[in-house]
Amino acid sequence: MLGSLAKWLRIMGFDTLYFRNIEDNELVRIAKQEGRILLTRDGGICGSKKAGDCLLIRSQDTVSQIKEVLTSLEIRPSVGEVSHRCVSCNGALLPVRRDDVFGEVPEYVCRNSPAFLKCGQCGKVYWEGSHKKMMDAVIAALTKDGEAC
Ligand SMILES: [Zn+2]
Repeated sequence: MLGSLAKWLRIMGFDTLYFRNIEDNELVRIAKQEGRILLTRDGGICGSKKAGDCLLIRSQDTVSQIKEVLTSLEIRPSVGEVSHRCVSCNGALLPVRRDDVFGEVPEYVCRNSPAFLKCGQCGKVYWEGSHKKMMDAVIAALTKDGEAC
């Protein structure tokens, strides 16, 4: 239910795992083992003692959910900095050379972009323009109602 939130958190550079179909116990186990904070809309999980660090997300829409997370956990996105997290799979992004992405990105991007990043896990290629666009969308959404984020 929080897939969209997970994506946005990755765009902002936060190490975020997301599971669509997973047993509560397994979810809690992974969170504890890896020292993660569990974000869920399921009050049942958060209410139980065994859950560990857990944040119950109450908002319905993604932007409000992002604000909830940032406020509750007292974290801020590093605005202007390029995220090094793959939006699709949460893998680490590594800098690659222009030659390495030839044929994997649109030709004009390959020619004109100054820098490229590639996901070490799924192989997805990112470039400055694609990342900046996503970050700008996040910032625009978070500041839409005139509030500073
Ligand atoms: Zn990836």
